[in-house]
Amino acid sequence: MQAIKIGNVEIVALVDTIEAYPFSVVYPKAELLDWHREYLDDDNNVALNFGAYVVREGETTLLVDTGWGPEQHGRLLEELAAASIMPGAVTHVLFTHLHGDHTGWNIDRGTGLPLFANARYLVPQLDWEYFGEKERRLGSFARDVAPLEAAGVMDLIGGETTITAGLTAIATPGHTPGTPACSSLPRARGRACSATW
Ligand SMILES: [Zn+2]
Repeated sequence: MQAIKIGNVEIVALVDTIEAYPFSVVYPKAELLDWHREYLDDDNNVALNFGAYVVREGETTLLVDTGWGPEQHGRLLEELAAASIMPGAVTHVLFTHLHGDHTGWNIDRGTGLPLFANARYLVPQLDWEYFGEKERRLGSFARDVAPLEAAGVMDLIGGETTITAGLTAIATPGHTPGTPACSSLPRARGRACSATW
C-alpha cells in the first residue's frame, strides 16, 4: 500500500495479489534482453501486480477496480484496512474494464450482495455491451458483475462522466472497448490518475 497526494486528491495504490508469468507469455512479441533481467526471476517469469486504487477527495472514496478476489487469495480487504478504509466507506467503484481480475471483490461471497454496500458501481457501458447476453451468464461476469444490476447499484457510464467536481472518468478505449481512466484535474491539463490492462 502506497499513497500520494495531488492537490486535494489522495491516491492510494493497493495490491490484491501478485502472480508470476513467463516473460514470453506476458510479452509475446518482445525479445528477452539483458536489461529485462532485473524484472525477472531465475525462470524468466515476470511478477504482475493485480492491483487497485483508492482515490479520495472530500466525502468521496472511489475504488478503482476490485482485484482478483478471494478465490485467488486476494488481499484487497486487508490492504484497504491498512489504509483505514472500511468497505462501507467506499462511495464509488469504478472499473477500468470488466475482466475477472478487476472485479473479484465486488460481491460478498457469503451474502451474494455487493461487498461495498454503500457504493455506486460505475460500469463502462461499452464493456457491458461487449460481453453480451451469453457471456453475462458465465464465469466471473456472472458471479461478480451481473449481480450489480440485480442489486440496483450499477450505473452504466461512457464518454466523460463527472464523479465529483474534481474527479472525472474519461474514455480511454484500447484493452477493451469501454476502458475508462480517472482524471483528477480539468481535462485541459490532462492528468489521468489511473490506467490498467
Ligand atoms: Zn484485462
